[in-house]
Order: sequence, then C-alpha cells, then structure tokens
Amino acid sequence: MAQQFDVVVIGSGPAGYIAAIKSAQLGQKTACIEKWVDKEGKTSLGGTCLNVGCIPSKALLESSEKYHEAMASLGDHGISIKDVKIDVKAMMARKDKIVKNLTGGIAGLFKANGVTSIEGTGKLLENKQVEVTKHDGSIEVLDAKNVIIATGSVPVEIPPIPMHEDIIVDSTGALEFTEVPKRLGVIGAGVIGLELGSVWARLGSDVVVIEAQDKFLPTADQAIAKAAQKIFEKQGLDIRLGCRVTGSEVKGKQVVVTYQDSESDKQETFDKLIVCVGRRPVTDGCLGEGCGVTLDERRFIFVDDQCRTTVPGVYAIGDVVRGPMLAHKGMEEGVMVAEIIAGHETAQMNYETIPNVIYTHPEIAWVGKTEEQLKAEGVDYKVGKMPFAAVGRAMAANDTTGMVKILADKETDRILGMHVFGLSASEIVAQGVISMEFMASAEDLQLTCFAHPTLSEAVHDAALAVDNMALHIA
Ligand code: FAD
Repeated sequence: MAQQFDVVVIGSGPAGYIAAIKSAQLGQKTACIEKWVDKEGKTSLGGTCLNVGCIPSKALLESSEKYHEAMASLGDHGISIKDVKIDVKAMMARKDKIVKNLTGGIAGLFKANGVTSIEGTGKLLENKQVEVTKHDGSIEVLDAKNVIIATGSVPVEIPPIPMHEDIIVDSTGALEFTEVPKRLGVIGAGVIGLELGSVWARLGSDVVVIEAQDKFLPTADQAIAKAAQKIFEKQGLDIRLGCRVTGSEVKGKQVVVTYQDSESDKQETFDKLIVCVGRRPVTDGCLGEGCGVTLDERRFIFVDDQCRTTVPGVYAIGDVVRGPMLAHKGMEEGVMVAEIIAGHETAQMNYETIPNVIYTHPEIAWVGKTEEQLKAEGVDYKVGKMPFAAVGRAMAANDTTGMVKILADKETDRILGMHVFGLSASEIVAQGVISMEFMASAEDLQLTCFAHPTLSEAVHDAALAVDNMALHIA
C-alpha cells in the first residue's frame, strides 16, 4: 500500500524546507522529496539557496571583501600587511564547508521535527498522489492529503551564449572558478551579476558587465541606483548599459563576445564569461499529465494570494510562482501555506514589505515603493535623506559612502519606502521592514531613541529629514 502523508512537499529549497518543518510542527505527517545531488554524489537539501545561491555567494563575497580591505583600505587604519595573497582553493574550500554545514543542518532539522526526507524526483499525479523516482530508478507512489510544490528555479540560457565547459558559465559555475580570471565578462547587471562580478573584481579581475537595458537597476530607486553605479564604476566595474549580446565564440581558453550598442557592433575577449540573465521556474518533470495544475502566461505555476493552485489541496510556493525570486519570500510563503493546511484558513503574507538586497560593497537594500513608483501612482510624498558621510559610526568604520532615504505619505505621514545604500544596508533595511509592517509613520521613527554611535542613526536622521528636522545635516 502507498505511504500516506498529510503533507508532501516537492523540493527542499528555502520555500520547501520551511513549509515541511512548519507543517510537521503543526502536527501534520509530512514528507519532503528532494532530487539534488552534490559534487560527491550525495543528496543535498536546501535547494539553490544553500547549495549554489545565497550562501556560497555570500561566503565568497565575505572572503573577497576581506582580501580587498587588506589590499586597499587597512592602511588607512595604520595597519600594514606585507605580501597579501589570495588562495582561491582555500577560499572555495571554506565556502564548501559552510554549504555542507548548512545543508547537513536541514537534514538535522528534518529529523528533529519528524519530517520524512525522501531522495528522488517527485511528480504530482491525479488525486494528490505523488510519484517518486528514486536515484536507482525505482518508483514509489505516495498518497497525500495536501501537496506543496516548491521546485524552485534554474538559470536562463540564451541562444547567443551557450554554456561552454568552465569558460562560459552560469552563476553556479562562477562559484567554482579555480583561479582569478584576468579578464571577466558578466552578461546581465542584475543582482546576481553584480554580486558575482564584485567577488572577482575585488580579487583582481578586470570585470566588464554587459547589460541590455538602458537603465542601471531599473527596479531600484533611481537616485540610489545612479549613486551606486558611479561608485561601482569608481571601484573598477566597467558597466556597459544598452548593449545587446549577439554572439559568442570560444577560441582556445578565451571567449570572444559580440554585442551591439546604440552606435555599432562591438567585440570583447574574456578569459571567463558569466551569464546572469535571469532564472526560470522549474515546472518540467514535476507535473504529471492530468494533475490539473495550470501555469500562468510566464510559465510559473498559477496561484492565488494564498499560494493555492487550481487544484484544491495543492499549493505552490517560492521561485516557481509569481513574485520576487528571493529565499525569504519563499520561506514566508512556506509558513503561510503550512498554516492554511493546518486549518488557519485566513493565514496570509504581506507582499508589500519584502526587502530586496544587493550584496555589493556598499550594499543596496530597499523595502516598499521607490520615488518613481510613487510618482507613477500619483501619491503625494515627502522625502528624507541622511548621507553616511555625516554619520560618526560610518566615519569610524572608514566607510562613508551612501545614504538612507525614507519616503513617507505627505498626508498620513505613513512610511511608504526605505532605501539604503551603504555599509550594512542589508541589516539596516530591516528597520524599514518592521516600520512598514507596523504601519509606522515618519514621526514614529523621529520619536524613537537610536543607540549612538550606530549606522542606524542614519535611519533616525532620514526620518527627521522627512519633515526638515534633521539634526546632523547642515
Ligand atoms: P530552490 O532553492 O531553487 O529549491 C528548489 C528545490 O527543488 C531544489 O533543491 C531542486 O533540486 C528541487 N526540485 C526541483 N524539482 C524537483 C522534483 N521534481 N523533485 C524533487 N525535487 C525537486 N535570494 C535571496 O533571498 N538572497 C540572496 O542573497 C540570494 N542570492 C542568490 C545568489 C545566487 C548566485 C543565486 C543563483 C540565487 C540567489 N538568491 C538569493 C535566490 C534564491 O536562491 C532563491 O530565491 C531561492 O533559493 C528559491 O527558493 P525555492 O525553495 O523556491 O527554490
């Protein structure tokens, strides 16, 4: 007889593993199916995020930042280091160890919470049955009262630039270079392209970023995006906007890329090329014929605001559904769906307060609306800005680039957006998320006592500046 579960989750990325753990915690008999096999041939939990995404990229960003600091800015503190060297093999080994710790940690969490971990490829059949094809080819069918599809996303490939061994790679390949490329091309100036470009630029690569769009970071607040572009270019990233790649040719150990800008056809030769032009949802292989789940026009699984698919009792969460492709968005959807299945039918999540972060140095982070969005929506708003150049703690850290910018409704004073460009922006933006979650006003932040000296004081002064009351700007 088929094994029976209250909840079967397909995929153990951040969306899936959180949904599985939360379901088990809420008393559901839960299984999670995962097909990912690591470099050693073992099943690895945690999905893109833990294996080849958020975590390994941040491990390399931290290493490269430390190297860059040692080379470029520790001297300002009076610290001199001779013979600074980068050992790429050791850097990668550290990254791999962090990945192993975390993916193993998910296995531990499954055990501790009573989630049954099943290795193999899951496919939804009719009547909420799930077929699992194990790595040895054998097949098992599970009966589920509820199914959560969390199959995630994979990098998009484009015809002019097919992957080629370790020369033309996607984001996963860029986390595995064995030496610092002398000349590195990055196709796509999105979050992932900028982060990976930064890693290798800090380690000494000559990096050219080729982007088809004319605007830099079009979804970010444009004042912040423009400031960031200038800084990144000053740091040595050669960012070429409005350039459409038309072809690529591998010649020996190099690749020649052809592209068009507004004037003419151009060519560049690189030692390595990273293609970061977006990700697509994984729906092939997990939806059996007749399962009833439908896709939307962009081939994401179609869901409502509560992540219900077109089949009762079948949900989909994370990168495989609409919304930003972010680990924390998928995790929140996982919690929401587990709550709904456990009987809390009105569980919901606030899609308006999902923070965005770009882990360059300095970091860019924001939550809520940009000035451009507010203008387009015809909302009357107030703006407050506080540059880090006037923040004592930023000076002490020798890192005064950037600002905090707060947007508040002119009539109600409610905070509509917070945009941070600077040191620890990813941490500072959480204050904007909490403020917006609690529907705070600029005045609420103005009346809050912030510790001194901290970078967060910039949030306080930006809130004061919303009403022209800043205390630390002339
Ligand atoms: P995934 O993490 O993609 O997991 C899906 C899982 O499902 C995979 O393990 C896959 O093997 C499994 N699966 C698929 N089909 C089947 C099947 N049929 N049967 C069984 N298993 C299946 N996001 C952030 O929020 N912050 C960051 O800093 C960040 N950095 C990133 C850096 C890089 C280089 C990349 C590539 C991504 C980054 N992301 C970041 C995005 C983040 O990784 C994704 O948004 C997140 O992993 C999506 O989670 P998910 O659970 O929906 O899917």
